[in-house]
Amino acid sequence: MPEPKLLLIPGPSPVVPRILDALARPTVSHVGPEMARDLREACENLKKIVFCANGEPFIVAGAGTLSMEMALLNTAGPSDRVLVVSQGYFGQRMAQICAAFGLSHDVLECEWGRAVTPAELEERLRAKNYNVVVCTHVDTATGACAPVEDYAQVLDKSGAVFIVDGVCATGGIAERMDAWGIDVVLTAAQKCLGTPPGLALCVFSEAAMDKRRGLAAVPAYYSDVLRWLPVMHDPAKYFSTPCVNEIRAFAEATRIVLEEGLEERFERHGLHAEALRAGLAAQGFAFFADPRFEASTLSVVRYPDGVEDQAFRAGLAARGVVVAGGLGPTAGRVFRMGHMGNLTSAQVRLAIDAVEATLLALGRPVEAGAGRRAVDAVLKA
Ligand code: PMP
Repeated sequence: MPEPKLLLIPGPSPVVPRILDALARPTVSHVGPEMARDLREACENLKKIVFCANGEPFIVAGAGTLSMEMALLNTAGPSDRVLVVSQGYFGQRMAQICAAFGLSHDVLECEWGRAVTPAELEERLRAKNYNVVVCTHVDTATGACAPVEDYAQVLDKSGAVFIVDGVCATGGIAERMDAWGIDVVLTAAQKCLGTPPGLALCVFSEAAMDKRRGLAAVPAYYSDVLRWLPVMHDPAKYFSTPCVNEIRAFAEATRIVLEEGLEERFERHGLHAEALRAGLAAQGFAFFADPRFEASTLSVVRYPDGVEDQAFRAGLAARGVVVAGGLGPTAGRVFRMGHMGNLTSAQVRLAIDAVEATLLALGRPVEAGAGRRAVDAVLKA
């Protein structure tokens, strides 16, 4: 087997052996006691990860896009108006989902690289009422992080259901559902939670569940949360066969998150982001996101003049590190580096060394060791 490469794309993130082992153990009955134990624990842990005491978690085979659909279709009815607060690619996707299901919606967007400000949101809400407001926590195309807590404050008295797409944030950046007043966090397993792709994850607040129960029907079958609720309460019940190995792996992933400690994990994501950006800046790179909005889960990195995207990423992959190209209008001008999940400081150092070796091989004039020294200065501080 070829030597595995360090996967620093913006998800999936590298999967640690404990989680891979859980995935590889023999498949068990989807309605048996082992599965029931893992699903129950995963549900409880998922609620802890988003700081939700009394809501309902849903763990379903799929990926982030399914959880986006689940969140919207179970909270927005035919007479509701949805506001999509978008800072990039995945806000646009949210609007596409609204359009696909005929949900009445508006998009409040900003230029790529920053997030909509709370003042802009407030101004829109003064002009028009919305029943559902959805935002992207971190847009994976731009590396911009939205001020979710401030949005929640603005929305506090509006009565709107507040949905947060945490696919590129949950488990790496705080999302305090109860304290801030978030109604739904939707997310996926493969980014800050460090599990292989394959799960759509949602946590609904009690208010969001009330909203679902108040809708006569939803344009969904597999993603109707009321069909999944009995299974989440009692995994011995059958609705649609859960992916038992993936759920077992996810249960292990949530144990790892809680063993590290949530606050410690958020801090580590911040530290690794700072270290990598210091290293990359010392190597001559600049960043796409406005510094006021930079996410701690990924960096969108601008190439200096003369560094060609394909050659750089191929060279880096040959040295054992995989990063992603730009999405949409940034394609060819940036690379995207994920730094989320169960990344270690040793992996951060390895990545920056591989970038230096790649630049030198491409004939760039980089000062030997400058990136590594900048990384070490942050990690040791
Ligand atoms: N939202 C965000 C913020 C994302 O980053 C992604 C995936 N990159 C998605 C939604 C969609 O998730 P998936 O690819 O798992 O369907």
